[in-house]
Amino acid sequence: MSFLCHLECALCGEQYDPDQLWNLCPQCARPLLARYDLQAARQRLNRSSIAESDSTLWRYSPLLPIRDPRHVMTLGEGWTPLIHASRLGATLGFDNLFVKDEGLNPTGSFKARGLSVAVSRAHELGVHTVSIPSAGNAAGAMSAYAAQAGMEAHVYMPRDVPSAFLAECRAMGAAVTLVDGVITDCGRLASEHVREFGWFDMSTLKEPYRLEGKKTMGYELAEQMDWSLPDVILYPTGGGTGLIGMWKAFAEMEALGWIGSQRPRMVTVQAEGCAPMVRAFHAGKPFAEPWENPSTIADGLRVPAAVGDFLILRTLYESGGTALSVPDDTLRQAAEQLGAAEGIFACPEGAATLTAFQQLHRQGWIRPDETVVLFITGSGLKYTHLWA
Ligand SMILES: *Cc1c(COP(=O)(O)O)cnc(C)c1O
Repeated sequence: MSFLCHLECALCGEQYDPDQLWNLCPQCARPLLARYDLQAARQRLNRSSIAESDSTLWRYSPLLPIRDPRHVMTLGEGWTPLIHASRLGATLGFDNLFVKDEGLNPTGSFKARGLSVAVSRAHELGVHTVSIPSAGNAAGAMSAYAAQAGMEAHVYMPRDVPSAFLAECRAMGAAVTLVDGVITDCGRLASEHVREFGWFDMSTLKEPYRLEGKKTMGYELAEQMDWSLPDVILYPTGGGTGLIGMWKAFAEMEALGWIGSQRPRMVTVQAEGCAPMVRAFHAGKPFAEPWENPSTIADGLRVPAAVGDFLILRTLYESGGTALSVPDDTLRQAAEQLGAAEGIFACPEGAATLTAFQQLHRQGWIRPDETVVLFITGSGLKYTHLWA
């Protein structure tokens, strides 16, 4: 079922046995990446066989890490619509504007992709109790898949997390701990408890498989665009797993012979009140400094430090992309623009990509004949407090 062959450290290159449980690289404490035997996969898979598979991200299961399908935990995640936003595009003088609507995933965000795959793989490797620090959406997604797997779930969220996220986790039976501070503070307490109680740590990029779930956004985009890719992708970046995952998917698909060497310019969008990647990108740095006093209404972007910072920055540099931050007071209006023109109710993180698009279009960085995809990473339904 899976062509998984080893794990490889993204920084030092050390290889590890993929059929054991790992978190960060034991040598250098950086993320481990799943590697597949793509030569063998190229012989045995083709694009048209994928088209006959499930309408979920599990259509790509040979390129996912689960060996035995009995361990797959699924609620119908992935295969979300790619919508041609022609009315919105017309108001902006732009023909080829597309929206990938991740709000249709189980639990209302693309976090379902990563946690469906990571919880499934943890189940396969014998894990009983999982733990996660989260700004909200990842906690809800992990709670859902842990419930389906019959695992015990512990989630750590900021004390000021919007109530919808809290309600969701509680309704799915997770043990919720509220922490004074932001996601990095949640991460500190969660990792203390992981060490003390022997639970498995599901922090993003601190285990290898959430990335594998999120990379399926890249596979889907290519398949939905008839095995081509857009010129530009705008992605609201917190920990960066979605951006890094798509970039990994493009490389895998080229090795499989499914796409050519053309790549989109990847754009990181952050909030002005928390923009560590934007600052590091414009300084030409390989790693990012933590952001002081992070603040934004886009909860998923309130990430002052990311363990995969160097992978985000590497992707932006290699793709010829860019990074920009947008003010919070534009997000509600951007969500209303998307809603009124296209009928899509976007989370503020997703809405930020529309503000960023308008800025880049105005500056001429995006040209009128290009094809652009905005990632609406989640639904607005957990953020109705912004309209209260
Ligand atoms: C987590 C989250 C993000 C940031 O995603 P990363 O892949 O961690 O950068 C963006 N939008 C929403 C809605 C999120 O929940």
